[in-house]
Amino acid sequence: AVDQAKLNGRNQYAIYSEAMGHERVRRLMLEQDLPFAIQKDEFYLQYQPKINAVTGRIVGVEALIRWQHPKIGFISPGEFIPIAESTDFIIALTTWTLDQAIQQIKRWQIDGYQIPIAVNLSIKFIESVRVKDTIADMLALHHVNAELLEVEITETVVYNNLDAVVKEISEIRTLGVKVSMDDFGTGYSSISLLDTLPIDTLKLDKSFIATIGEERKQAVIEGILFIAERLELDVITEGVETIEEETILMNLGAYLMQGFYYSKPVHPFEIIQMVQARN
Ligand code: C2E
Ligand code: MG
Ligand code: MG
Ligand code: MG
Repeated sequence: AVDQAKLNGRNQYAIYSEAMGHERVRRLMLEQDLPFAIQKDEFYLQYQPKINAVTGRIVGVEALIRWQHPKIGFISPGEFIPIAESTDFIIALTTWTLDQAIQQIKRWQIDGYQIPIAVNLSIKFIESVRVKDTIADMLALHHVNAELLEVEITETVVYNNLDAVVKEISEIRTLGVKVSMDDFGTGYSSISLLDTLPIDTLKLDKSFIATIGEERKQAVIEGILFIAERLELDVITEGVETIEEETILMNLGAYLMQGFYYSKPVHPFEIIQMVQARN
């Protein structure tokens, strides 16, 4: 039915809208259009800097995917990544993202900048492809050094597939690619995951920031920082929006930061401007 609606033009969407509710129509549209969005060139990456707050320098960036839909306009990954993950399309999308990010590393390298890029990996991608070989092939194709690539894996996802994920992560790391655990502290976090997973960096979820004024929350962050240090893990705090938050975090001993206080995700050109100003 939706196929027919699409053939008949956009006005048909309005009719379905009334009958089915806007949410459902929107979801159906996204589900239907998503598989064609790569070839139609509707995705692009933005990059958000990761800052060493002690030196002020940019230590790397995170690639964040965006979808500019021809009719709906901008769609956030929070909306379309779960849809992509419900089908195999997430595999193609993750491959596209990795390839784009690796090409960006290469372009920056040619211009004289060594800026590590972190890519978010979907669990389905990790389970479905030979991740190590795929990444190794892409790095070789573009002549990019593995040390400039990082991958982020969400903690909730790790928890459900522990043995398989541990094996994949170990393999990825043999290439020299760094691995971060994303959104740590959301869902059913387990401190014992930290010594089980062969990771380099812990990304403290931005939900910690929301309550950072509370002393008991600060105690928890301090505890995580202490454990991470003993396990020789870097900790980066996500979602830092104000100087007050930065100050509290630095007093607790955190120094790697990411958040709107420093920069929102931006075009590669703006990353270079920031690197020139800061590094
Ligand atoms: P994430 O990997 O945890 O990325 C951080 C999200 O927090 C980004 O949202 C970023 O824009 C947002 N953020 C950064 N600083 C702040 C801040 O100071 N305050 C607030 N409120 N938010 C901040 P975004 O770009 O909407 O991405 C949402 C999620 O979608 C990501 O969470 C990630 O899980 C997923 N995602 C994004 N790009 C990709 C991708 O290429 N592949 C996959 N598999 N997932 C992706
Ligand atoms: Mg991430
Ligand atoms: Mg995160
Ligand atoms: Mg997240």
